[in-house]
Amino acid sequence: MAKYFPVIGLEIHCQLSTRTKMFCGCEIEVNTTANKHVCPVCLGMPGAMPVPNRKAVEYAIRLGLALNCEIDLNAMWTRKNYFYPDLPKGYQITQTGGLPVYDHPICKNGWIEVTLEDGTVKRIGITRIHMEEDAGKLVHDMSPTSSHFDANRCGTPLCEIVTEPDIRSPEEAVLALQKIKQILEYTQVSNANMENGNMRCDGNISLRASEDAPFGTRCEIKNLNSFTNLEKALYAEIMLQTVTLDAGREVEQCTKRFDPNANKTIVIRSKEDAHDYKYFPEPDMVRLVTSPEFVENIRKTLPELPDARRERFVNEYGVTAYDAQVLTIEREVSEWFDSAAKNCKTPKILANWVISELLREVKELEGGLAAVKITPEQLATLVNLIADNTISGKIAKQVFAEMFETGEDPEKIIKEKGLVQVTDVSAIEPIVREVIAANEKQFAEFKSGNNPKMKGFFVGQVMKKSGGKANPGLVNQILDKLAAE
Ligand code: ADP
Ligand code: MG
Ligand code: ZN
Repeated sequence: MAKYFPVIGLEIHCQLSTRTKMFCGCEIEVNTTANKHVCPVCLGMPGAMPVPNRKAVEYAIRLGLALNCEIDLNAMWTRKNYFYPDLPKGYQITQTGGLPVYDHPICKNGWIEVTLEDGTVKRIGITRIHMEEDAGKLVHDMSPTSSHFDANRCGTPLCEIVTEPDIRSPEEAVLALQKIKQILEYTQVSNANMENGNMRCDGNISLRASEDAPFGTRCEIKNLNSFTNLEKALYAEIMLQTVTLDAGREVEQCTKRFDPNANKTIVIRSKEDAHDYKYFPEPDMVRLVTSPEFVENIRKTLPELPDARRERFVNEYGVTAYDAQVLTIEREVSEWFDSAAKNCKTPKILANWVISELLREVKELEGGLAAVKITPEQLATLVNLIADNTISGKIAKQVFAEMFETGEDPEKIIKEKGLVQVTDVSAIEPIVREVIAANEKQFAEFKSGNNPKMKGFFVGQVMKKSGGKANPGLVNQILDKLAAE
């Protein structure tokens, strides 16, 4: 098989987390009675007039600014006509339309950066972000002979983010999608939950014979609902196109879906053209006019974004680049760590506790981080108690487990259970002597210096005898002193 070089571009749909729909006042509520939230506008009754949701526009602009886009102050609504049973209107209001005169999406020409495995930072262009409305939902599994229709989702505001064909491997595509999901979460414009379907990704992919050859013909794989499926679908399509090209045939442009069980991409239709949708400017609405002041006010609502937060964690708290990366993947985790670190004398050690203890427990915990009983301040206190030698790291793990169960303050647990570290030589030395007396042969060996492992043995025995409370540094010192006698 010849080697080909992939070219990949993504189209990402996300549901905006507004309270109401895109062009009417109907509430957005999932998992509720079917057809509960509908009105003449979202059902497309003749004569009903759409009015854009100001909050949705703000969210789209905030997202555009976070993705380094230019904002079009004179964006345009277009009508995309098609028939499908989940779309009673027979058209969708969007901001795209094939012809350049119709193409005024609210945001364009942005970029994101991803860090590749070898550490290099790669920039991926964002072609545009346009706003549109979602269709309703068909329910096929209520009866074997009929399908049902739920219009609650009709008119839910969506943003579609389109990347440039700058991506060069399935792994890079996953990194790009991860970064965009992260930015959606940080800016809080969308829940961006792929499992719930409020974020979905289409992958476009073509192959070419060398890295500077012109782009090949692409296929678009629709509705990938997880990072794994995105990566697998792209690999499956690379295999398929490789076989096609190796056989001297041409790839035909088409729209596909991915079957994860068969690990195969399957054609759903040959590529539709823009003219199939008979786009025209939406006659029920004027241009979406915004002002520079409006945009600047939205810019002020931008939070610290993941890349900036990651860098700050390294600079301000001295955590490693890797730890900072792990701690900023999820906005909530990053905020939790941030407020703990502000109260901690040794934030670098705190980072270890958050990553290897807290997050490990959270993985198993129903409700995730939000359900954790320990507050950031309490964990900071626990780590401070290690730093000032009140407790050993080992005892701290025991205290942590108790805190995780009960949400109790670490000081209270330590006091109640008598776990304070013993740093009094006169209390530790008798224990060391006892252990030596019980292990004379081993002590002789330790004294001779021939078996370096012996010291560890004695430290371990003393720690055990003291219930883990002896300060290990002091145990070491006392052992050395007695060996030199
Ligand atoms: P459409 O609206 O028909 O889906 P777009 O021009 O919006 O077409 O492009 C869709 C996506 O396809 C973009 O993400 C773009 O980066 C990607 N793309 C365009 N050309 C190619 C190509 N030759 N190979 C891979 N991806 C491509
Ligand atoms: Mg498309
Ligand atoms: Zn409505």
